[in-house]
Amino acid sequence: MQPLRRKIAIKLGHQIHEHTLDLFVYWRYTSHYYLFDFHFTRPARGQRRFDLRCPACGKDLMLRLDSVERTKQIRKRYLTTALTGSAVVAATVALGGFVHLPLPGTVEAVVLIAFLLSLPVTPIAWWLWRIEDGIRLTDPTGKRRKGHWRAGSPRLSGA
Ligand SMILES: [Zn+2]
Repeated sequence: MQPLRRKIAIKLGHQIHEHTLDLFVYWRYTSHYYLFDFHFTRPARGQRRFDLRCPACGKDLMLRLDSVERTKQIRKRYLTTALTGSAVVAATVALGGFVHLPLPGTVEAVVLIAFLLSLPVTPIAWWLWRIEDGIRLTDPTGKRRKGHWRAGSPRLSGA
């Protein structure tokens, strides 16, 4: 997990080359970028949008920065979801493995649905909690596209 700072440095990557090698049993993707440094200061609160122009191709891009406080809140939400999901999975496995409860049909169905929903949601919430840094690189409309990339970002943040 990256530490949250108000002043941040962004490395913008402009893709100059990509190549996929596919030999049926072996697959490799290679991509090369020009990298450019940008420095920003997060807003004191909330979220702020910054316009950004790629020095290599001149394409307009947008950077959305969340304040440190907002990013911590988002991380907390992901962590709460991950802990709740883990607790549901652990409790369901423990109860199902060691104790046979004569649960009524509706309660059984609710427990089963909560368990099945927790299985995919929990690892995704843990992953999002770990990588959330409150920084999004997109095109000016807010959509993610190929061609530009924020180097060092664990999130697939392209524009
Ligand atoms: Zn570019």
